[in-house]
Amino acid sequence: MTTDVREICRKALAEFGSGHQINKAKEELFELGAALSHYTEGRASMNDVRTEIADVLIMASQLALLFGEQEVTNEMERKLGRLSDRLGMYRENPKLEPVVTNIDYYYGG
Ligand SMILES: [Mg+2]
Repeated sequence: MTTDVREICRKALAEFGSGHQINKAKEELFELGAALSHYTEGRASMNDVRTEIADVLIMASQLALLFGEQEVTNEMERKLGRLSDRLGMYRENPKLEPVVTNIDYYYGG
């Protein structure tokens, strides 16, 4: 996370408190889920989804500061490594590749 993002998130946590920001994160996660559901039903735009993704990323940054930024970064690296390994496996054996790989194709975009 950039220094500016970290600083703003620290200020938000100090101003509003960790309990409040955890509840806000839960609210934003729900809003993103709802926006994605509405998008797949043709009732929300890509911009509606983008704004909710931004809210979630901001709240996730605050959660990372609360729960341990370095530990979250380490976990992301571990999971991205695992995903990368899986993608390599798909390249080596195309029969294992997921049926739907392009969201625009899937949703007719
Ligand atoms: Mg929101």
